[in-house]
Amino acid sequence: EAAARATDVWKVYGSGEAQVIALRGVTAEFTKGRFTAIMGPSGSGKSTLMHCLAGLDYTDRGEIHIGDNLVTGLSDKGLTLLRREKVGFIFQQFNLMPTLTAEENILLPLSIGKRKPDRAWFDQVVDTVGLRDRLSHKPTELSGGQQQRVACARALVQRPDVIFADEPTGNLDSKSGTEVLKFLRRSVDDFGQTIVMVTHDPVAASYADRVLFLADGQVVDEMFDPTADRVL
Ligand code: ADP
Ligand code: ADP
Repeated sequence: EAAARATDVWKVYGSGEAQVIALRGVTAEFTKGRFTAIMGPSGSGKSTLMHCLAGLDYTDRGEIHIGDNLVTGLSDKGLTLLRREKVGFIFQQFNLMPTLTAEENILLPLSIGKRKPDRAWFDQVVDTVGLRDRLSHKPTELSGGQQQRVACARALVQRPDVIFADEPTGNLDSKSGTEVLKFLRRSVDDFGQTIVMVTHDPVAASYADRVLFLADGQVVDEMFDPTADRVL
């Protein structure tokens, strides 16, 4: 069963001489409870594909589904609701609210959506990500790795259909990056979370179940059960 699906998706930026075709008919399925990495050269369309899947950007042609929801054709309001209720985001730059504590950041998507936090689940997520003793700290009082783990917990705590991670280890040293990747892996293995991650890093990709390779706006290869040396 697919947690997310792109069917013949095209995306064009600009027009005339400045026109860039960022996606040229991408079809891809993201199975529930699986961890997919998207790799490819700079400019190959990785971020564009993820933004289209996540309802952060419009497609020009084709269809996007998140679960049973047809994303394509939703209004801005519909897209906002979809992002709020169905997907979680992890960005390279953490994107935490600087004035809020770690706990408040983790619970923010739930409070925005006026959803009641499940305290037992919150505790489980916090313990899994190793943030129990950091909950009252503000982002500036946390290391980069800790901040990214707060972002991971914030994504997982809302039990989204899909977590989209855009270069989640791009700003981290390798030790902190490994902690984040292990947490993502555990979210899949222990909690059945579906994850789609864009990365340049073969070591990061080796934590996934599958790697999709993009080149020039198309899926050109696919690999299951990657290991770091095979991805290299
Ligand atoms: P990747 O994530 O693989 O580096 P992107 O999806 O960011 O690739 O970009 C794919 C192509 O679309 C590139 O040629 C890029 O320059 C272009 N592109 C991306 N975003 C925009 C934008 N907002 N306006 C114009 N061109 C863009
Ligand atoms: P980039 O990949 O270009 O360095 P980011 O990964 O930080 O930038 O963010 C990707 C895009 O998603 C940006 O255009 C940003 O405005 C948008 N964005 C970031 N956070 C959110 C959010 N919580 N909800 C909706 N859009 C967001």
